[in-house]
Amino acid sequence: MNLLGLHHITAMASDPRANFEFYTRVLALRFVKKSVNQDDPGTYHLYYGDYIGSPGTALTFFPWPGLRRGRPGSGQSYATGFSIPAGSLEFWQERLAKLGVKTEPVTTRFGEKVLTTFDPDGLRLDLIATNEADPRQPAPSEDVPAAHGIHGFHSTTLGVVSPAATVSVLTATMGYRLVATEGHRTRYTVGAGGPGTYVDLLADPALPRGLNGAGTIHHVAFRTPTEISQVEAHGQVARSGLPISPVIDRAYFKSIYYREPSGILFEIATDQPGFTIDEPAESLGTKLGLPPHLEPHRAEIEAALPPLTTKP
Ligand code: ZN
Repeated sequence: MNLLGLHHITAMASDPRANFEFYTRVLALRFVKKSVNQDDPGTYHLYYGDYIGSPGTALTFFPWPGLRRGRPGSGQSYATGFSIPAGSLEFWQERLAKLGVKTEPVTTRFGEKVLTTFDPDGLRLDLIATNEADPRQPAPSEDVPAAHGIHGFHSTTLGVVSPAATVSVLTATMGYRLVATEGHRTRYTVGAGGPGTYVDLLADPALPRGLNGAGTIHHVAFRTPTEISQVEAHGQVARSGLPISPVIDRAYFKSIYYREPSGILFEIATDQPGFTIDEPAESLGTKLGLPPHLEPHRAEIEAALPPLTTKP
């Protein structure tokens, strides 16, 4: 299967305003798209990433106001890892402390320091001070110098109870390769490897069963370069025996979905066309983006959404 790494990761949130403030002001990601949940157009779909929301940088949210909090655990993507430079951990420790954002004591994972923090809904975020080269540029920010900025995803950590079937899907079907094991955690990579490609399987018996809700991950999307490679991937998943959706046009990419054996929803999304298809790069995130089939309903959709003032 032709996969290049992580594409985007989508989580559930409660208050869209608190979500926007945290990701743009605290983590200094760029707000790259205000859209709607295509399966529930009364709900926003908010996207944060690098300057243009490049594949491998976009963390996205369905914010349902008042949604009760879930619990990260097994049967879910348990944590989302962001890549920061090796020398930037103290910057982030100081910054998060100053802003009153909760963190856990720094840990070491595969020889790299990890600072775990949480968004306003309790979503678990690992800032991973990687020793590896990561040429991806952070989103421009007034508060966070480029030397310390988030480069994009480093990894996703999947909580699994019995990893064998998930390992089989990752390696035999999706082409992931084993990197290393440390304690209950086993790391896999795909494509060229490096930050933005890693999938960690965490088979920790102490991990509680995950409960869906605000502050938990909805699905993890993987990058495939073209619509042709996506069709090939579709065939490979189908032949493995897992039920898989048809190709769905998400306006900014095309997607296919399947649930891996531990219950985690996977998506394979194309790199193209990206978020500049309906807005110029310099004003991304300012206009409500709608897929063509919802465009005729723009007035009703805009009227039904809760107000959310955003700045580019
Ligand atoms: Zn998705």
